[in-house]
Amino acid sequence: ATPMSVMVGVGKAAEAGVLIRNGAALQTASKITAMVLDKTGTITLGQPKVSGIVLAQAKDENEVLQLTASLESGSEHPLALSILASAKERGLSLASVQNFNAIAGHGVAGQVNGRHLLLGNEKLMRDNGVAIADYISTAQTMAQRAETPMYFAVDQQLAAIIAVADPIKEEAIAAIQRLQKNGLRIVMLTGDNRATAAAVAKKVGISEYFAEVLPQQKSAKVAELQAQGEIVGMTGDGINDAPALALANVGFAIGTGTDVAIESADITLMRGSLHGLADAIAVSKATLRNIK
Ligand code: ADP
Ligand code: MG
Repeated sequence: ATPMSVMVGVGKAAEAGVLIRNGAALQTASKITAMVLDKTGTITLGQPKVSGIVLAQAKDENEVLQLTASLESGSEHPLALSILASAKERGLSLASVQNFNAIAGHGVAGQVNGRHLLLGNEKLMRDNGVAIADYISTAQTMAQRAETPMYFAVDQQLAAIIAVADPIKEEAIAAIQRLQKNGLRIVMLTGDNRATAAAVAKKVGISEYFAEVLPQQKSAKVAELQAQGEIVGMTGDGINDAPALALANVGFAIGTGTDVAIESADITLMRGSLHGLADAIAVSKATLRNIK
């Protein structure tokens, strides 16, 4: 494309809230054959809220929230923020935590008043020998509602399961349909568990998804699609998404996401709306038509 037509395209996209950082990305956007979408914060709002607590060994909900919020005060994960908000709402004061440890893709661990606390997914419980068999169906029910179950253990005993709900963006279904009408293969990636991923994918009409993807595996998935001959667009908001955004043929960052994601991407969806993806592709097509 001529520099002039690219400038016009960049300007048109900007009007739609789509910030294009380089002309090459604008020209590649119309050639994308597969779009990879992160789940949390990309398809969902990324503002999860505690939606329920099921007690196992623990006596009451406030004790569970007080301990888990204390533990999560050292984490910036969206799930951690949901627990902290819930504890604050109930006016609970936090205790100090020793030996805090964030285990990427699994959860958090630490000690409060000499008790050993673990909070995270099923894998974290299994890796630490916490018996959860009696509560798997409880967690499964939460997941089928597209909620994320977080297991909480005190001294290796399951104390409670906390359900966290993160609503799907209102435009997600329509925006994904627009991409599908453009003939794009849509792939969802998430670190979240399989059942929650399945429920979210179904809600938004995505049939191809990969769950329990560790942060470092996201870019490997992009490379795998490229090896299959796909021209890959990647859309994400998190620090976890940065390597995949950089590797993709075109990286799209959610404007409300982390700075690292925005810096790693070619295009930023300023309004956070997923319609920006099909808008960018449309502007790209128009730009290339103008020069032919
Ligand atoms: P995602 O952001 O897509 O959920 P992550 O790799 O950050 O992916 O996390 C994967 C899973 O690990 C989460 O769904 C959650 O079950 C667990 N996890 C990660 N961090 C935390 C945390 N701070 N508190 C509780 N659970 C966590
Ligand atoms: Mg995310």
